[in-house]
Amino acid sequence: MSDLRIIGVDEAGFCFGVKRALQLAHQATEEHSEVACLGPLIHNSQVVEGLERRGMHVVDDIAEVSRGSAALVRAHGAGPDVYEQAQKRGIKLIDATCPFVRRVQQAAARFVEERYQVLVLGERDHPEARAIVAHAGGRATIVQDADELKQIDLTDRVAVVCQTTQRMDKLQALVAALMPRVGELRVVNTICDATAKRQKASLRVASQVDLMIVIGGYHSANTNRLAQICRATGTRTKHIEVAEELRAEWLDGVRTVGITTGASTPPEAQEDVRRQLLELAAAGAAEHRGGT
Ligand code: SF4
Repeated sequence: MSDLRIIGVDEAGFCFGVKRALQLAHQATEEHSEVACLGPLIHNSQVVEGLERRGMHVVDDIAEVSRGSAALVRAHGAGPDVYEQAQKRGIKLIDATCPFVRRVQQAAARFVEERYQVLVLGERDHPEARAIVAHAGGRATIVQDADELKQIDLTDRVAVVCQTTQRMDKLQALVAALMPRVGELRVVNTICDATAKRQKASLRVASQVDLMIVIGGYHSANTNRLAQICRATGTRTKHIEVAEELRAEWLDGVRTVGITTGASTPPEAQEDVRRQLLELAAAGAAEHRGGT
């Protein structure tokens, strides 16, 4: 037995948008013998492989989808060109765009119509951010942080929206940097509630423990951000994808461990990590007893 204390973040596990996308994906594989997914549905290889066994395959571009077949738009959304192509080529689109993501797309499009200079706080290569820009007719600029404003010629009327999984402190910093430089500033806080709650709860747990474990895909932007948030508390933080990556030496001198997960991490992953941590701690305690 060990006296390791593990604190899980209640808000961890699949978010609403990912749950919905998975449900739509499963339903699609029941209704169609073959379904193309426009990019990996989530950053989790076990889940993607499971869907592949049910007849879903991942494509990079809708151009690869054959005429008349079915294709799924992920929770990240897609640009209007994807919907146009689908209609032209008779492709049945199953749209799993998260409603919170759609809200950002609509806000960006509206601001462009109202002739604001639109800034999207997000990651330049992230599909969600790119789709938001596409819905703004390409007339929005992605900024990754307030520092990037130095390279942008600002007009007097600026509107800001953000990728749903951005950090609140980054949005606040961007707004503070814009304020003195523009005459009119419109901001829609489009960070989704699920993300904000998960980040806050993870921050709270990270500040109480000796070691923080963040579980989720290495390519998952929201998981990487969670790891950054936890690290910023000064607590040693490890980002892993699966329980097998845990190392016994991480537990040296550790009495409390916190666990949180990205938005597309299955709940089982958290359970696996918890179990493995307890096993490692018990083995460590037994070794310690044997050696003294
Ligand atoms: S993180 Fe939020 S916006 Fe993104 S898919 Fe999940 S619920 Fe939707």
